[in-house]
Amino acid sequence: MVKCCPNISDETIKPGLGIRRDTDVKKEISLYIHIPFCVNKCNYCDFLSFPACTGTCKAAYINALQREMELYAKEADQYRVVSVYIGGGTPSILSLEQIEMLMYTLREVWDVDADAEITIEMNPGTADQMKLLGYRQLGINRISMGLQTTNKEELACLGRIYNYDHFYIAWKMLREAGFDNINIDIMMGLPGQTFQSYQKTLSKVLSLRPEHVSAYSLIIEENTPFYNNPAVLSQLPDEETERMMYTFTKNFLEGYGYCQYEISNYAVEGRECRHNIVYWEDRSYLGLGLGASSYMSGNRFTNTADLEYYIQYYNDEKCVSLMPLEKTVIDTKTHMEEFMFLGLRMMQGVSRQRFKSLFGKDIYDVYGTVLNKYEGMELLTVSGDSVSLTAQGVSLSNIIMADFLL
Ligand code: SF4
Repeated sequence: MVKCCPNISDETIKPGLGIRRDTDVKKEISLYIHIPFCVNKCNYCDFLSFPACTGTCKAAYINALQREMELYAKEADQYRVVSVYIGGGTPSILSLEQIEMLMYTLREVWDVDADAEITIEMNPGTADQMKLLGYRQLGINRISMGLQTTNKEELACLGRIYNYDHFYIAWKMLREAGFDNINIDIMMGLPGQTFQSYQKTLSKVLSLRPEHVSAYSLIIEENTPFYNNPAVLSQLPDEETERMMYTFTKNFLEGYGYCQYEISNYAVEGRECRHNIVYWEDRSYLGLGLGASSYMSGNRFTNTADLEYYIQYYNDEKCVSLMPLEKTVIDTKTHMEEFMFLGLRMMQGVSRQRFKSLFGKDIYDVYGTVLNKYEGMELLTVSGDSVSLTAQGVSLSNIIMADFLL
């Protein structure tokens, strides 16, 4: 890895470079904005997030973010923004005025499509009506709410700050504020969770008819209180129970008209998360804020994870350039692997044509043996331009994906 200045030109830049002619069509880009603050730290969380600092720290962070955005002004001119994702952390912990400031600078600097998908992540314990109405006025049109489970004991074990009643109040406020594109996150494989308690969670969630449901399995990460905690580890459901939970999720949601468009994501028609699809389709995005990653021209750029440094750097009146980012060059082999891993998570699979345009080779020249093997086992299917996993293949995806390592 090397330190370098960010260059947000991507593979779609036309030769001739960097100078935008009036006849050029602006390229699409997606923006991720990271807010690292939370009310407290959940027991399973290894995201770059921490309990919100007091005093002027949040305000200083917002100033820094605004400055960072402004410093992209020259490059921003070449792009039109198709999706924005304000994630964290808990972005809804910020005051409405702070979100307003961010959105103001965002629109000042970037050309945001009128119909861009603009999501904010929300913790049910931080909702209030004025805030939600304000979000709507600011053009935020999608909410992603982390519920995880409706079970009181499971929520307490995770260290979440709310119970289902709080969540339900937040849910009603969201609908009253007019939000018609809401995701609810739930989790399976929690300590002490049974198949029956998971069924109850999913049934309650479905009774609300959200437009989108993300159902992820808990992963015990190092450096979290759950890791190496024998009491927690001994209460994890076994693999078979988790498989039943996954199958139940799929059948239950599909029975109610939701479409599984990615291994862990379900949506009613037209409400698939456009922003996350950018990640799975291996397309370019720009990350802003602490620790945020950008993906451009096959390279990854990562912002510092040092909050104090980030705030100091961008609050310095003399700051006239973007801070150096950590650049990870993704070699072709790794790029091919990532392309397959991410793309096969989606039910539509990967495009053979796109593989060829990115790597200059037919997908069969690189992965012929493994594609033929899984096609023969009916775990993978090739149809026209698309290579995708079958339903049975999706349930064995961990094993299959490992075979795509070159
Ligand atoms: S609210 Fe989300 S980001 Fe914050 S600590 Fe909990 S899991 Fe992590």
